[in-house]
Amino acid sequence: MKSSIIVGLQWGDEGKGKIVDVLSAKVDVVVRYQGGANAGHTVVIDNKRIILHLLPTGILQDKISVIGNGVVVDIEELINEISLIKKNGFNADKLSISSRAHILLPMHKMIDNAKEGRRVKKIGTTGRGIGPAYIDKFGRKGLRMGLMLNKTEFEKSISDYIDGFNKYEAPFYKIPKINKKTMTADIMKMRSKLLKYIIDTDILAEKIVKKGNSILFEGAQGVLLDIDFGTYPFVTSSHPMAPYAFCGSGFPVLKDYQMIGVLKAYTTRVGEGPFPTRLTKEEELNMREKGGEYGATTGRGRNCGWLDLFAVKYAAFINSIDNIVITKMDILSDMKTIKICTGYKIGNKVLKSYPSVASDLDKVTPVYKSVKGWTSTELDNLKKGKMSPSIRNFIAIIEKYSNAKVTMISNGPSRKDIIYLEKP
Ligand code: IMP
Ligand code: MG
Repeated sequence: MKSSIIVGLQWGDEGKGKIVDVLSAKVDVVVRYQGGANAGHTVVIDNKRIILHLLPTGILQDKISVIGNGVVVDIEELINEISLIKKNGFNADKLSISSRAHILLPMHKMIDNAKEGRRVKKIGTTGRGIGPAYIDKFGRKGLRMGLMLNKTEFEKSISDYIDGFNKYEAPFYKIPKINKKTMTADIMKMRSKLLKYIIDTDILAEKIVKKGNSILFEGAQGVLLDIDFGTYPFVTSSHPMAPYAFCGSGFPVLKDYQMIGVLKAYTTRVGEGPFPTRLTKEEELNMREKGGEYGATTGRGRNCGWLDLFAVKYAAFINSIDNIVITKMDILSDMKTIKICTGYKIGNKVLKSYPSVASDLDKVTPVYKSVKGWTSTELDNLKKGKMSPSIRNFIAIIEKYSNAKVTMISNGPSRKDIIYLEKP
């Protein structure tokens, strides 16, 4: 398979984890380029469910796996995750972490939760410290993984960081002061476990590119959670967008690659923020149960709604999506009719573009197209190469609005539940 960037075209949880896992088998290298342990990538292997938050999913296919500079690395979580995969019979021998990636410290999680608690308008963050870690990065007070390579300097930086936290942030956010000695010792222990993974990724990237190896850039979250292009301020603090793959990994902009967009056959959103196609309470409960729509990171029930192609059209366009993967088609099986949103209206005015102001999104009424659903038998037959008219119609509508080709369909959680409409 040629090098590919995989992004979510909705608000995350499109099922990227499984798709990345399946496609990882066909590439040489897998790279995470942004976000942190807010992600929850679920992979089911031999009935075992493994959830990765930070490790590139390719690690489960024993591929060279890179955590790029754009990621904020929760070192506690990373160590736990490495032991989790080892317990499950996998290994982290081919893992590398960019020396330029920022360290996410326990203090970032404390601040995240304290801030969220104070907000009048909640964002519904995952509490994983993402916002505060990126604030440190862009405020130029962050500590990077490469700093760990110099023990004395790192220890001093941690100690200074804790002093600053105790002096300014702790009282401001009403967080109890940190015990500097214990915290520094804990972090130094974590350092010794992670040292061997830290590298300058440009050296690795050069080797990989020279060899002509294929790379899979594993997106986390979704375009509608992008800090610039998502439903601001109800977004994450980084760039799930495909163009950031290069910036967040240190791999050069490739000459030949494909953009793969993953979308769920319906829409979900976890956390706060506008959601035009959200179902009624009762319908939502049904969909949530049927689809197992609970956050892989926080366990929160996800809000559920119909497929929003007006949003997908926008997301696919700004990411130049070539190929689309539809996931969870099985969850919609055996519904008589399915609704698809193809546009938005405010009053009688039909919107020409996706609103950039969140409060406008609260005012929109979705314009729906109702289409005939498919049976589970029809979906099973698709595996045997027979496509029913209702499935064909559903795919055709998605292709029309996304201006991309539907090449894969996922019809269940495990590695084998995948239908290729075209060779990847
Ligand atoms: P944060 O990334 O923890 O700051 O959370 C900001 C918003 O993004 C919240 O609405 C989260 O629920 C959402 N979010 C963050 N990561 C993910 C993800 O991986 N999947 C789905 N939603 C996410
Ligand atoms: Mg997820």
